[in-house]
Amino acid sequence: MKKLILLIMLATTATCWSQPWVVAHRGYWKADGSAQNSRRSLVKADSIHCWGSEFDVWMSRDGVLFVNHDETINGIEIQKAKAREVRDQKLSNGETIPTLEQLLQVAQGTTLQLVCELKPHDDKYQEAQAIKKILKLFKKYGMENRVTYITFSYPGMRLLIQQAPKGTEVYYLNGELSPITLKTLGSAGPDYEYCIFKSHPEWIQECEQLGMKTNVWTVNKREDLQWCIDNGIDYITTNEPELLQQMLK
Ligand code: MG
Repeated sequence: MKKLILLIMLATTATCWSQPWVVAHRGYWKADGSAQNSRRSLVKADSIHCWGSEFDVWMSRDGVLFVNHDETINGIEIQKAKAREVRDQKLSNGETIPTLEQLLQVAQGTTLQLVCELKPHDDKYQEAQAIKKILKLFKKYGMENRVTYITFSYPGMRLLIQQAPKGTEVYYLNGELSPITLKTLGSAGPDYEYCIFKSHPEWIQECEQLGMKTNVWTVNKREDLQWCIDNGIDYITTNEPELLQQMLK
């Protein structure tokens, strides 16, 4: 009898482990009073117990890191602008655009894993400076063990792998590299658009064999979320975190 109970316990634990982790894409921005990449979207993602919350980082030309998805905010191109031109810009929920530092201050009151996307900057020197500043800020706030980096920038990925503390996970978003290539580069794995894994389902098993994790974005429809769950994807980035959580229950 004891053996049977132990087996059931082990099986249950194994099931839990194989479940994907839920990442709120640009925070939980569909919640009341929220907006993409806002402070509130982070708080809301934490309030529903997402594992992680994703956000995007740009650096102004005078070296201030801002959190915003688009290249521009209210017509101002962040990477080409000065911080004072960006700082007072409003998000759709009335908040001002957060700097990365302000977002990390909010994140300190949460238990979220921070999925930090480095945006590809036109000037690669500026991008390299942005990486240095991002790493420094996570260190300053003692959150180096709570960050996962993602990027479409190939040189950005290489620098993050070289410069982040050992063991920090850096994923690549630009779906053209195979898992073995990413492994060779020292990346933690692919973080690819859902349809890339659908056309390369063998990459999921390849990642598992290589000891790498699989991430997908941005999966919102029930049937697509189910495909990811059924195929053993490790992290699912979604605009519908509550739907995914219900499906995992
Ligand atoms: Mg992003």
